[in-house]
Amino acid sequence: PTRRTTRRIFDQSEKMKDVLYEIRGPVAAEAERMELDGHNILKLNTGNPAVFGFDAPDVIMRDMIANLPTSQGYSTSKGIIPARRAVVTRYEVVPGFPHFDVDDVFLGNGVSELITMTTQALLNDGDEVLIPAPDYPLWTAATSLAGGKPVHYLCDEEDDWNPSIEDIKSKISEKTKAIVVINPNNPTGAVYPRRVLEQIVEIAREHDLLILADEIYDRILYDDAEHISLATLAPDLLCITYNGLSKAYRVAGYRAGWMVLTGPKQYARGFIEGLELLAGTRLCPNVPAQHAIQVALGGRQSIYDLTGEHGRLLEQRNMAWTKLNEIPGVSCVKPMGALYAFPKLDPNVYEIHDDTQLMLDLLRAEKILMVQGTGFNWPHHDHFRVVTLPWASQLENAIERLGNFLSTYKQ
Ligand code: PLP
Repeated sequence: PTRRTTRRIFDQSEKMKDVLYEIRGPVAAEAERMELDGHNILKLNTGNPAVFGFDAPDVIMRDMIANLPTSQGYSTSKGIIPARRAVVTRYEVVPGFPHFDVDDVFLGNGVSELITMTTQALLNDGDEVLIPAPDYPLWTAATSLAGGKPVHYLCDEEDDWNPSIEDIKSKISEKTKAIVVINPNNPTGAVYPRRVLEQIVEIAREHDLLILADEIYDRILYDDAEHISLATLAPDLLCITYNGLSKAYRVAGYRAGWMVLTGPKQYARGFIEGLELLAGTRLCPNVPAQHAIQVALGGRQSIYDLTGEHGRLLEQRNMAWTKLNEIPGVSCVKPMGALYAFPKLDPNVYEIHDDTQLMLDLLRAEKILMVQGTGFNWPHHDHFRVVTLPWASQLENAIERLGNFLSTYKQ
């Protein structure tokens, strides 16, 4: 056979041009390459509890193993009924959470899959979605990939990283279809107070927006932080609440998540049909992990041992926050939930033009992998994210090394 004279170049599709996920981006790839060369890298780029010695509750593992023989086939597309029923029961005890039933629950291979299903089923080209800056970047990536337009609203570091209501209002347009709220927040660790959530709901009500409430860290709270589910304040609005087992149950690798639809579903029949269609095309979520949902949600919640007084996660949050603030020119708002800190580099002290380069230089010099602020769609090169999962002594050492590195750093 003859060959065309010029070879075809396989580039990524145009759709990918705005899709970014720097948490596993080029700096992380360099870290992997360095590991292959024999370097020992402290990887503080992903919120992956298991790799830092956080074991899953025994019952989850035992139940999954016990269910392996009966998990060989596909399940129904939205997920097995006992797991979805367990999700219903979980929210029945949340005061004010709107009533929903098994039919309103979709299980997914992690919240990640449900986020991409949502944006694919919802968005027409050019539809706008309000997404926080900084954000968990999958929301922005999934919106772009679905043809939508991510519009970032600012969270205000001076106000404990609460969303700026003024900024949200200023960014609403005729094309705004939905608003994403990540609470407790990744990457800032903020837990939003009722007054802020109420104002967000008020805006959603006024402009008839779909609320997308990513609450995967709702049980990872420090000190006296209280989590308020957005759906409880918006029973009259369509709201999707996302959560899963990756964080509070330390089984990120099993890929188990759920989303629940609440509010007046009669206005979303087409969208829900789209979600069901997409749930069918992915066949079903990982079946053994679906069994884990039921057992995880019932009974004692061991996460509170880790976040409460003398809990390992609390001590690590304390260490990271204290040590970061001790570095000259670095300041960090105290994270009240989740597994991260998002410190600021004072631009009067550090002239950083390229925060990706900063993270690469830190990686090469200190063998520590962190993620630059712009990787979370933060508009300035003056932040980075620290994962607070390593032991307090490890964090102390890593942040001291970071401080030494910064003390002589120039770009
Ligand atoms: N949402 C937020 C805010 C996250 O931080 C993460 C993971 O880090 C996810 C969603 C996705 O989690 P998973 O797909 O493991 O459920």
